[in-house]
Amino acid sequence: MDIVLMGAPGAGKGTQAYKLEKTLNYKHISTGDVLRAEIASGSEQGKEIAEIINEGNLISDEMMLSILKKTVENTPKPIIFDGFPRTVKQAEMLKDMLAELGRTLGKAVVITLPEDTVVQRLSARKQCRLPDGTVKQIGPNFSLQQCQEQEGEIFTRPDDTPEHVLHRLAVYHEQTEPIILFYQRANLYAEVNGDQEPEKVFEELLAVVKA
Ligand code: AMP
Repeated sequence: MDIVLMGAPGAGKGTQAYKLEKTLNYKHISTGDVLRAEIASGSEQGKEIAEIINEGNLISDEMMLSILKKTVENTPKPIIFDGFPRTVKQAEMLKDMLAELGRTLGKAVVITLPEDTVVQRLSARKQCRLPDGTVKQIGPNFSLQQCQEQEGEIFTRPDDTPEHVLHRLAVYHEQTEPIILFYQRANLYAEVNGDQEPEKVFEELLAVVKA
């Protein structure tokens, strides 16, 4: 069964999804990564997406779904959706798409984190671009040292600057948080405390996913 992983930007969704993928043999699909790959391809659609993302806004539900659908259709494994859905409309679209593809959603898990911690984490966050163009986030799964050893270039995501972080948080409260009610009503909702060591968060997450 598929899983939705939600939480404010910086809550640790990517880190935890990576661990789940390794432990339970899921396929991790981060819509942020999918969009950044489209930008890196240099396509016209990528240029349009870059302008929206760099301002910290959401791309349209229709465009997001059409990009995501191609990946989901080619994925036989159970999926961890990271960064999707981000609006109630997307949650409804996901429900329809999964039904159409004969897939089932098992849980929608929110990683919670106090707001000031979110701002601190995102403002300190760094990425590493490896010589082959792959981008990794520096953190528990990929250290600064690994980046340096592999001759990566360290940079800050354009949407991780303090003013963009505050805007992204406002977007999260306004557009993404209402999804919680949607999943509570569907009896799929669960929460884990993201304000602890990544290993502890993972223990909680694993328990929730296996329940
Ligand atoms: P993330 O890497 O998940 O923080 O996503 C980075 C940015 O990509 C977001 O701030 C949005 O601009 C865009 N994005 C990612 N996922 C979605 C989505 N499901 N719907 C719309 N925009 C998205």
